[in-house]
Amino acid sequence: MVNQSDADWIHLDIMDGVFVPNISFGFHIISQIKAIAKKPLDAHLMIVNPDRYLEEFKHSGVDKLTVHYEANIHLHRTVQHIKSLGLNAGVAINPHTPVDVLKTILPELDMVLNMTVNPGFGAQAFIDFSFKKIKELKKLIKETGSKAMIQVDGGVDMTNIQSLVEAGVDVFVVGNTVFSSDNPLQVIRDLKLCCK
Ligand code: ZN
Repeated sequence: MVNQSDADWIHLDIMDGVFVPNISFGFHIISQIKAIAKKPLDAHLMIVNPDRYLEEFKHSGVDKLTVHYEANIHLHRTVQHIKSLGLNAGVAINPHTPVDVLKTILPELDMVLNMTVNPGFGAQAFIDFSFKKIKELKKLIKETGSKAMIQVDGGVDMTNIQSLVEAGVDVFVVGNTVFSSDNPLQVIRDLKLCCK
């Protein structure tokens, strides 16, 4: 269904049961997704010590790797490592993390993922103060001369996507709104129309 849809990428939520209170899937499943996927794989690593596994994610077939600011002591090293593998590098921040902490690393990034729910589970409600953060992030990206895209993940649906586009979001991760629908292809089409 996703292959046939208007979606641009396939977003993979990788959870380790340590950084977040849930476990999703790992390399074996990613390789199987890669074998049938017709779109780039965008992996969101909700794991501690992502440095240990970057090569293996690359070999599993991911195209974009996003790591969490909160899970990395040596973020600059991790970002350079991801780029050295020929992958797009992103950094994610939790809802409570201010955007300012990304100021120095922003010019190095292809994407910033601002979590709009607390990571770990699907089908959660969108956190409203995210709008303020996205506007601040957009400003900071301009100020630092960064080319990073802004991605949001969590609680995105038809009621808020238009306002998020206006706030400056470039990439939308949508799970529950699509997969709980009887007509997911149409939902993806409708969401994409809001982004035009
Ligand atoms: Zn995600």
